[in-house]
Amino acid sequence: MPKNLSSRRRFIKTTALAAAGAPFFGGLVTKTFAAEPGRKLGFALVGLGNLSTGQLAPALQKTANCRLAAIVTGTPAKAEKWKAQYGIPDKNIYNYDTMERMADNPDIDVVYVVTPNALHAEHTIKAARAGKHVLCEKPMEVSTAQCQAMIDACKKAGRQLAIGYRCQFEPHHLECARLAREKVFGDLRMMEAGFGFAIGDPNQWRLNHALAGGGPLMDVGIYALQAARFVTGEEPILVSAVETKTDPVKFKDVEESITWEMKFPSGLLARCSTTYKFPGLNNFTVYADKGSFGMNPAFSYLGNRGFRSDGKELRFDAVNQFAVEMDNFAQCILNNRPTKVPGEEGLRDVRIMMAIYQAARTGKSVKLG
Ligand code: NAD
Repeated sequence: MPKNLSSRRRFIKTTALAAAGAPFFGGLVTKTFAAEPGRKLGFALVGLGNLSTGQLAPALQKTANCRLAAIVTGTPAKAEKWKAQYGIPDKNIYNYDTMERMADNPDIDVVYVVTPNALHAEHTIKAARAGKHVLCEKPMEVSTAQCQAMIDACKKAGRQLAIGYRCQFEPHHLECARLAREKVFGDLRMMEAGFGFAIGDPNQWRLNHALAGGGPLMDVGIYALQAARFVTGEEPILVSAVETKTDPVKFKDVEESITWEMKFPSGLLARCSTTYKFPGLNNFTVYADKGSFGMNPAFSYLGNRGFRSDGKELRFDAVNQFAVEMDNFAQCILNNRPTKVPGEEGLRDVRIMMAIYQAARTGKSVKLG
């Protein structure tokens, strides 16, 4: 919760602003649940890797409207461990080939897809066909066609699809969006944003183009892109990009570092960067006519901090972003309300990232319609 009353007021206001700014959800959502405030929706985690193990399963224990009901894994030893740790019954344990059988399992309301990027469509579509709502990790997929197929499958099933944009539930990000959209510092002129890290194991799927769809841009550069779009509330109309590779052996399949620039309809320019080569890139700054504001660090699970050039405080207590994100999705489902992070939002980012790659490849700016 925010530190003091004034920041608490700001928090409430920014949360309301974010809700008000939610994109229109045009899809059919079958009303399957009455609004039961106390009801906890059953979540099935698909893919028990680092994110599920280290963040999502612990976060589920902290939610008000969700519970860990089921798992989907290709590794029987993991199933045994999770079964014992979280008390998951045998009937709620699936593998990637059997997950469509979830159709018969009323314990599961939501399937959370946490597998490598290029498997998101396959797992989302299977879940939708089983009649489940889907929360899918970012990036949504590795092509716009796959994203569209996911949107279509969920619409056809009458189920909601949300993308795991945790920062859209983080109070510093919400406050920066308020400062930008209410023009508290005047008209926005420029933005800088970056997120990156030094990647380890050269054999991991993140360095394999077929599974990852790209390198750091798809993985963490997407946070800088999201910040530019979410904070300003504008959509880019032009992108240019440059990439560099100093280790062509390790990064034979994906980019090592990439910077890109975006022009927005108001005339705002954003310069963004991402890397798998070095640590420390994790911030954004918005420059406006009467001052600047931003976050540093900006995209961590914990410990994010805000700043503003007028010296006023931009600080909130940490929230568990994953717990808030999952509770928000559960409440959307329970109240038959659209999510503010729908598949269409994931598709927009993938379309822009494909344009960034095209700009880097051709050396020419790419217009976005
Ligand atoms: P991970 O490698 O730790 O886990 C991936 C899981 O997928 C593993 O359990 C693995 O066994 C399984 N899997 C199934 N089929 C596979 C295949 N063919 N090849 C490789 N693994 C396969 O990855 P992770 O860090 O948990 O990331 C999973 C997803 O979550 C990615 O889309 C990633 O972008 C996203 N992610 C999001 C955040 C966030 O902050 N929102 C953080 C980390 C990861």
